Amino acid sequence: MEFIISRYNPETDSKPYDQHYHLPDAEITPDMMLLNALQKIRELDPGLSFRSSCQEGVCGSDGMNVNGQNRLSCITPLSSLSTPVKIKPLPGLPIIKDLIIDMSLFYQHYKEIDPFLQATSLNPDREHLQTPQQRSELDGSYECILCGCCSTSCPSFWWNPDQFLGPAALLAAQRFVVDSRDIMPIERLKSLDDPMKTFRCRHIQNCTAACPKGLNPSQAIQSLKAKILSHD
Ligand code: SF4
Repeated sequence: MEFIISRYNPETDSKPYDQHYHLPDAEITPDMMLLNALQKIRELDPGLSFRSSCQEGVCGSDGMNVNGQNRLSCITPLSSLSTPVKIKPLPGLPIIKDLIIDMSLFYQHYKEIDPFLQATSLNPDREHLQTPQQRSELDGSYECILCGCCSTSCPSFWWNPDQFLGPAALLAAQRFVVDSRDIMPIERLKSLDDPMKTFRCRHIQNCTAACPKGLNPSQAIQSLKAKILSHD
């Protein structure tokens, strides 16, 4: 099986370049994931750099662009990919080395939405109960693993990465705005009422197509925008 992998070492390369690799058929099993193939390629070329950790689609560390689509390599079956398999780093953020990107800006935007429950007025000595209906409001947002596949597939994020919060951060914002236990939903909406932070979203929906967890950040952003406008 043929692979074309983007390589870049900032200490020696002026720009990224493509490197071709071949894995013999004998090395490939029917249920093999792309991450396993990358690990085999790294045995051939120990200098190849990529992130991975849990290998089960939970940690979100192995996001990469595969045949033009952002994916998690650990849950991408090799059998689903056309060859040669073209692998690049997630787009729109600086490359540290090969397939490893600098996600500082991504995490900075996440931090900006205060991604924690603000419930200080509630009694700390007892559970903060929710009805099944209130709990169900969190479905579709709490499952985010912060892999970055959505934000790095978004043209609005590519164009204004320092100002537009991006789909992942806005999905998280929506998660806390709708949480019945949070006491700051209005303050959260006010801080998001900004033409660049939130309304730069143009509903392109690349984010939803890219999400490996099947979430719908695009819909969450539209819901957030509607809530912001209804409180103006
Ligand atoms: Fe990854 Fe989906 Fe969360 Fe975006 S919404 S960071 S694609 S899990």
